[in-house]
Order: sequence, then structure tokens, then C-alpha cells
Amino acid sequence: MFDNLSDRLGNVFDRLKGRGALSESDVREAMREIRIALLEADVALPVVRRFIDAVTEKAIGQDVLKSVTPGQQVVKIVDDELVDMLGGTEVEGLNFAAKPPVVIMMVGLQGSGKTTTTAKLGKLIRQKHGKKALMASLDVNRPAAQEQLKVLGEQVEVATLPIIEGQQPVDIARRAMESAKLQAADVLLLDTAGRLHVDEALMAEMKAIAGVSTPTEVLLVVDSLTGQDAVNVAQSFTGEVPLTGVVLTRMDGDARGGAALSMRYVTGKPIKFAGTGEKLDAIEAFDPRRVAGRILG
Ligand code: GDP
Repeated sequence: MFDNLSDRLGNVFDRLKGRGALSESDVREAMREIRIALLEADVALPVVRRFIDAVTEKAIGQDVLKSVTPGQQVVKIVDDELVDMLGGTEVEGLNFAAKPPVVIMMVGLQGSGKTTTTAKLGKLIRQKHGKKALMASLDVNRPAAQEQLKVLGEQVEVATLPIIEGQQPVDIARRAMESAKLQAADVLLLDTAGRLHVDEALMAEMKAIAGVSTPTEVLLVVDSLTGQDAVNVAQSFTGEVPLTGVVLTRMDGDARGGAALSMRYVTGKPIKFAGTGEKLDAIEAFDPRRVAGRILG
């Protein structure tokens, strides 16, 4: 994960820490290198600017350079700012604070990993939180999407709403609500349809579904490998549906890290989970401190 960025930053840090004393121009030179490394990692430009300005100000403005270990102190400042960029020190879990069934609505483009993530969360909710979940696929666009969730549901031992051919998404959502209540399910996971691109019809459908299900969580699933595109998708959704968080999938294959590092600042939404593989337990609560730790090696 984020190996390229990690290597680049590691080189800069080795040089900083290798010196006894640091001058202001040493810091500025290091910041230039970090700036390039972040841009090559596909981090959004405004985020890079803000990061570099904050680190430079702290490193030069305070007594860091006069300290006994200036290199280490600069590295510590970079670490703190990375954590901030990734969302701060809190690990944002799922919000279950609503009258059951608590509705978790999954949204995102086709192929982002929505259905897999729905099943992963279903398993997590059953195993880790000990709650009873029901999952329903509202994807009537992609052939076999509903069947896919049913099969995954069997694997993770979480019930799925029986499929009724030809039923439309809003009606499926209503039926899922009824069924969840009847079964006394604690949580209802709604796996919505994706499209290849964000379009008006998709947004109208998402709004209508949110209207009948009043979700406590609306989680946007995006593929971290798509870098800035993932951030643009998140921005498009942010204005339309009341997102409560983001799930970044395919973090296991992401050598660059641009989506993770830009997402919070650009969208204002926390990254709640990271998908780390195809297996159904390959999901982690997104912990900014741990991710920053991995980047810094
Ligand atoms: P959907 O169209 O958004 O519902 O996408 P799917 O859930 O069908 O996922 C598309 C593909 O991505 C599947 O082959 C998944 O196994 C794979 N996938 C989903 N999440 C992850 C992840 O975190 N890591 C990896 N490596 N593959 C993933």
C-alpha cells in the first residue's frame, strides 16, 4: 500500500535525519521534494499546497531548527500533518444511533466494489457488532446484480431480501424496510445501482431511495486506484445525496495513495473503511494514524 510514496518520503527523511543541523533552505529543499512526491502520488493540488504550507510554517516558524534533533522534529511535523490530511486522529465507525432498522445506503459507480463492500459490512456487522442485518440489492440495471448479493449473503451468513423480478428500486427499498421491521433486523444494508458515470438519472434514483428509507449512513464506495477520478466522483455525489462517509476499495493495490490523501480535504467527508482485498473479510476501519504510519514506513 502506497509503496511509491513511502519510498520517496523515506529518502527525504533519511537525508533530513542524517544531519545534525538544519537550515531554512534545507527544509525548503525537502519540502520541494515532498511536494513532487505528493503530486506524483496523484494528490489534489490544493491539498498538496495546504500540506506543504502547514509543514513549512511549523518547521521554520517554531524553534525546530534550533533543537538538538531538527530532522526528527520535521519528520514528526510531516507525520502530524499527514494524519490531519487523512482525517484526523478519530477512527470513524458506523453510526447505529437510530431506531432500528438502521439503514445503511451504499452508493457509487459500477465496478467500484459496492456489492462486495456491502457483503463485507454485513459480515462485520454480524460478527463484530453482533447485530442482525438484512441486505437488499436495488440494482435492477446490471444483470445478475441481485443474484450476486444473494450468493455473497450466503457466504457471509447474512440474510438477503428475496428477489422479485421486475420490481423497481424504490419499491424494493420499501419492501426491504418492511421486511427488516418484520424480521426485527437491527441494520438494513441497501446496495444501490451504479452507472459508468455520474448522471442525473442516477442521482434522482439515489434521492428517491434515500427519501423512502431515511438512511443513517450513506456510504460512497470508490476505487482508490482511480486516484483523482475517485475524488471527482465523491465531489459529484456530495452535492446531491447526504453522504456520511466514504469507503475506499482496492487499497491493497494502491501504490500511490492520491485518493486517500485528497478525499477528506476535498469532500469534507471521513473515509470510514478501506477495502484491502477480494476476500469478504478484507475490510478495515480506516485509521488515519495507522495509514500515515504505513506511508512513513
Ligand atoms: P460493484 O459493481 O460496485 O458492485 O462492484 P463489485 O462489488 O462487483 O466489485 C468489482 C470487483 O472488485 C470484484 O471482482 C471484487 O472482488 C473486486 N473488489 C472489491 N473490493 C475490492 C478490494 O478492496 N480489493 C480488491 N483487490 N478487489 C476488490
